[in-house]
Amino acid sequence: TFRKKTSNNVDLKDVFISIKTTKSFHQSRLTWILKTWFVLAKEQTYFFTDGDDPDFQSKTGGHLVNTNCSSSHNRKALCCKMSVEFDRFLESHKKWFCHFDDDNYVNVPRLVKLLQMYNPQEDWYLGKPSIRAPLEILNRDNTQQKIAFWFATGGAGFCISKALALKMMPIASGGKFMSVCEKIRLPDDVTMGYIIEHVLRKKLTVVEHFHSHLETMKFMKSSSFADQITFSYSKFGSEMNILSLEGFDPKIDPTRFISLHCHLFPSFDFCPP
Ligand code: UDP
Ligand code: MN
Repeated sequence: TFRKKTSNNVDLKDVFISIKTTKSFHQSRLTWILKTWFVLAKEQTYFFTDGDDPDFQSKTGGHLVNTNCSSSHNRKALCCKMSVEFDRFLESHKKWFCHFDDDNYVNVPRLVKLLQMYNPQEDWYLGKPSIRAPLEILNRDNTQQKIAFWFATGGAGFCISKALALKMMPIASGGKFMSVCEKIRLPDDVTMGYIIEHVLRKKLTVVEHFHSHLETMKFMKSSSFADQITFSYSKFGSEMNILSLEGFDPKIDPTRFISLHCHLFPSFDFCPP
């Protein structure tokens, strides 16, 4: 019988999904992920944190990785986690590395559909910048030259193909990612852009369907949700930056992830008939 070949032969099983988190956010943030999109990608998704947590170790099906990185929100700690995420991806031998924050909702089938458009044996860096022009810095080497490069915002999510990750290995594997962070003194997502665009001279491919909470969530139309790849939420002052959609009471669904999940997958057990 004839079977349709998947584009680029990519399937969910070929994707390594890593989520950066911290122990004090397990309860407040992982809860929404575990109830919703994680259910669609249990085997592929790993949480990179900074402390042991038997409760969440079991809730994630053993997919909580204690990086032993510091639990503070400084560049070193965040780069340390990204470094461990990258090394774990390499060990997984999967075709795609996708990183997200713990305040991201990932539309899993839509992510797979995106990745099917690109060959993982070619160099691909997919994501969305949050600035309108490439970042300009003074290169911290003996030249002190001005350099400019794009980077994908970590809080919107980004994906790197296996071929590109292999080229990054000499620069970024085995904990070396951290040294690059320290050298250029910039955050983990910026360091990714520096390594890929400046050092390896590969271009970021902008994917508009990734969304961080630097965007105003309520401006996104519910009719377009199914076509988006990531969503997020945040609090500024007393106001929440959240998606605007019908669904569960904000008291039980403050992030709107439960309502979003039912919008996308109405047959889920907790969704209204
Ligand atoms: N994070 C972390 N350690 C910290 C604080 C935050 O690993 O001490 C992670 C957090 O879990 C999230 C990401 O870093 O995945 C971004 O944190 P947050 O959303 O709080 O801040 P943002 O940079 O988005 O404003
Ligand atoms: Mn955030």
